[in-house]
Amino acid sequence: RRTPREIMSQFWSPAVRALTPYVPGEQPREKLIKLNTNENPYAPSPAVEGVLQRFAVDHLRRYPDPESTALRQALAEAHGVEPEQVFVGNGSDEVLALAFQAFFCQSRPLLMPAISYSFYPVYCKLYDIAYRTLALDDDWRISLDAFEADNGGVVFANPNAPTGHGHPRQAIAALLERITESVVLVDEAYVDFGGESAVPLVDTYPNLLVTGTLSKSRSLAGLRVGYAIGSSELVEGLQRVKNSFNSYPIDMLASEIAIASLKDTPHFQATCQQVIATREWVRQQLELLGFEVLPSQTNFLFTRHTRHAGEHLFGELRERKILVRHFNKDGLSDFLRISIGTDDEMTSLVEALRTIV
Ligand code: PMP
Repeated sequence: RRTPREIMSQFWSPAVRALTPYVPGEQPREKLIKLNTNENPYAPSPAVEGVLQRFAVDHLRRYPDPESTALRQALAEAHGVEPEQVFVGNGSDEVLALAFQAFFCQSRPLLMPAISYSFYPVYCKLYDIAYRTLALDDDWRISLDAFEADNGGVVFANPNAPTGHGHPRQAIAALLERITESVVLVDEAYVDFGGESAVPLVDTYPNLLVTGTLSKSRSLAGLRVGYAIGSSELVEGLQRVKNSFNSYPIDMLASEIAIASLKDTPHFQATCQQVIATREWVRQQLELLGFEVLPSQTNFLFTRHTRHAGEHLFGELRERKILVRHFNKDGLSDFLRISIGTDDEMTSLVEALRTIV
């Protein structure tokens, strides 16, 4: 007798059958020091609290603004662009998915670094997009020169994940001087922790699309608000895909919360600065313990020990109720990716690693 699963899974499309879904870091139920999914350890802007207290529940009877006008306006102001250059979605994961559908289903392969956000190949398989990966350089940086001009699009994270290195804007501009005939998608999920944004280049290079998120530097991962900034033509392309199956993109409450957060620049800057300061303290401590720590312009560190395997360290930390990220992948298995938490959390991490190594 065949199981219901065996019977029903034959109705999955070939792409869905072949798919290995992206598995995000564990969201544990027990109380752990959670340093595995690059969440922000600090609360969102206090203005968010104000929105929740004032919000008139009766408004929820209505659909939200299909154009997300106020949110796009707030994002445009925060980034010095026009609202027509801003697209919004439910987390940058959704924005990326729509961008892949809108721009990368080409006859030529999409180019991406061999080590970058592991969602990109998942989207390619799901949407049947041919792609080619390019090795990082010897210092674990994305080799922008390796992206040849003949391609069906380019995607990478800058700063990159899980490695942490970010290229300066000038390097992205040099890439865009060469690649003019396809969309270059720069994923800036982590840019606010010391990276340099490519957004000021969008008026010069209409094929540049930059994605961003409120999940990391705005402490709003639970809200699911992400965005893309580019030429109005690229934004229109995204809007066309999006409107085909969801005409009311961002829920009403999420929009108001996101806007309140975007307007609180002092809180944003102070928390980012704190994360950066803690990160550099952790780096020093790890180096004293014999770790190699890659340079980081993000809210995480990518690090390996000279004598201890990544999986071993991961397990030992887990036993001590500290959760970090370990990738069981070729070339990465020596490393741990450690999100930056509060100073107390990071002191506990360093103490735990001191006993382990
Ligand atoms: N891009 C990168 C490089 C990421 O690490 C993440 C978070 N896992 C995302 C995009 C998606 O973030 P979100 O959907 O929360 O905006």
